[in-house]
Amino acid sequence: MHREDFPLLKQDIIYFDNGATSLKPYVLSEAITDYYNNYSSNAHRGDYDMSLKVDTIFEHTRELVRDFINAKSSKEIIFTSGTTDSINKIVFGYFKNTLKENDEIVLTKSEHASNILPWFELADLLNLKIRYIELNSNNEVTLDNLKSVITPNTKVISLALITNVIGDIRPMKEIVKIAHENNILVMGDAAQSVAHQKCDVRELDIDFLTFSAHKMYGPTGVGIIYAKEELLNNMKPTVFGGGMNAMFSSDIKRVYSDIPTLFEAGTQNIAGIIGFGKVIEYLNNIGMENIESYEQELKDYALEKLKTVKNIKIINPNTKTSIITFNVDDIFAQDLAIYLNKYNICVRAGNHCAKILKEVINVKNTCRISLSFYNTKEEIDRLVEVLNNPNIKEEII
Ligand code: PMP
Repeated sequence: MHREDFPLLKQDIIYFDNGATSLKPYVLSEAITDYYNNYSSNAHRGDYDMSLKVDTIFEHTRELVRDFINAKSSKEIIFTSGTTDSINKIVFGYFKNTLKENDEIVLTKSEHASNILPWFELADLLNLKIRYIELNSNNEVTLDNLKSVITPNTKVISLALITNVIGDIRPMKEIVKIAHENNILVMGDAAQSVAHQKCDVRELDIDFLTFSAHKMYGPTGVGIIYAKEELLNNMKPTVFGGGMNAMFSSDIKRVYSDIPTLFEAGTQNIAGIIGFGKVIEYLNNIGMENIESYEQELKDYALEKLKTVKNIKIINPNTKTSIITFNVDDIFAQDLAIYLNKYNICVRAGNHCAKILKEVINVKNTCRISLSFYNTKEEIDRLVEVLNNPNIKEEII
């Protein structure tokens, strides 16, 4: 679908690493070039037309993000530099100020480093306890296993909506319901989900949500925090400077701005944010439902085809998303990725920043393909053909 919108797809390349970052449509670079060439002033700083135009487009993008995830108010949308930055700002801006010794944080072992290490740091700082939901035989979260890990001390559950190695979809709405019945807040890491399925924060009733523009066809260096307004009003900034203050005086008195600008100190990635707005409009035009159903069809096709590869071990044959993680017997994952690169096929190999997942799946390194709506069945056929090469081992040595 829509391959003609992506300049990079003119190259002789098969790009199956969308979980790491997606390719970018022309609308992104056009919007960024337009900003730099025609109205490249700062946001929320100037009183002249060009600067006011930036303010308008910048805030329009915030509104587009609000609409994209169905948040109640655009005040609940904060621009950051990416999911990692967003999670850190929530952990150290909200939870550092609200958790106390012996409180418990619930995670899983399949979370990305960015949804584990900030919590480890906070746990060390405040003497908190980390508990992991046991995963079932498909490496998924079940509600029973979630319930069994909750204690009266549990204060926050922080989970990816879709994980980046297993690609399992968490039953987030039910998780949030159980959490709220137990006075627990939920932080959702939507880095792997927002580009692939419709996200509705009000339907989920989720408390915090984070994601990166670059995994959803947008620019690098732009991310989002969504948080319910009442929570943001209790969150403290962790970065201080221009743009987030109303006044300060030499006797260290200071008054900070209201949300959302309170959390946007310093000049933002204006070009990226403007480009991100155009990408959201682009995705809206295609329709997230169309993206989801096409990718589902492609994933089913890929799974069936890959199962025919000799000696392949698919780690996540039962998950529904466009991530397929596998190994081929006796071939080191990274060697396989380097071999595929010889045929211009881009896949990811390694531990995918989920370094404690190996404690559950007993495999340290894997190859991962992560599909997008611009991938095709022909590309999958080519991958399978290259993996079925009878001389594969000789070519790797
Ligand atoms: N969480 C998940 C599930 C991810 O896949 C990633 C990126 N691989 C991140 C968080 C971190 O995103 P970023 O590098 O854009 O901050």
